[in-house]
Amino acid sequence: MTAATAVPAPMIKADLIHKYYDRLHVLKGIDLQVAQGEVVCLIGPSGSGKSTLLRCINHLETIDGGRMWVDGSVMGFDIKGTKLHEQSHARICRSRTEIGMVFQHFNLFPHMTVLENLIEAPRLVLGEKRSTATARALALLESVGLADKAKSYPRQLSGGQQQRVAIARALCMKPKVMLFDEPTSALDPELVGEVLKVMKDLAATGMTMVVVTHEMHFARDVADRVVFMADGHVVESGPAAQVIGDPQHERTRAFLSSVL
Ligand code: ADP
Ligand code: MG
Repeated sequence: MTAATAVPAPMIKADLIHKYYDRLHVLKGIDLQVAQGEVVCLIGPSGSGKSTLLRCINHLETIDGGRMWVDGSVMGFDIKGTKLHEQSHARICRSRTEIGMVFQHFNLFPHMTVLENLIEAPRLVLGEKRSTATARALALLESVGLADKAKSYPRQLSGGQQQRVAIARALCMKPKVMLFDEPTSALDPELVGEVLKVMKDLAATGMTMVVVTHEMHFARDVADRVVFMADGHVVESGPAAQVIGDPQHERTRAFLSSVL
């Protein structure tokens, strides 16, 4: 860590992140900082590296250059490609539990009820008692408007309801950061709003969020900052109203005209 300063350390700090899949250079020196409580929307064309970046933040991928800090924990390499320090598997696992992730496809356990989906990880990973995990799960279901669905199975729910369960399930792990990878892209249009509403409410609680989305109204309405990525680079970043309303780069303009 750097010397103590008056400015709080960012919750997420990516410095010059590089990522390759074999010889395919997918992230080409990404810098990103997300402050505690900040909501950042990550936008950009398909294939630009948005999902890969989220996976690097969540330690689901190793990085090939640069450094990534999440809540003060570092993982990374120096510029010569030497590992800075080998983190223990346990430490990476612990830091991963502090990061909730919500995917396009909800990935609920189909053979478990909604409540069982929510309490599984708190019991197995955090070692919580069933009663403790259940109490929090029920409160979170209430907060996403699904208090009456605790005993339902995922297949009995609409896509929008399943995604709200997936959000509640991630929140059950008491994460410090929530990452969303196109959480509404698989939904029928009439179900998108209820999921965005839950995400907006979550943002209002002060949760730190990084959201990959094509929902520009959500970005404009909820995000503190919008980051436009293309071809493995951050092309443009700034307040939502500026990046969406008055983009400075031609690539950003071209992208926005394709999604707005
Ligand atoms: P986005 O989320 O912006 O659409 P991705 O991060 O999914 O972009 O993908 C960036 C590039 O990396 C694409 O060219 C994609 O085909 C490639 N890619 C993503 N995941 C893998 C993987 N596991 N193995 C090989 N190539 C991958
Ligand atoms: Mg993606």
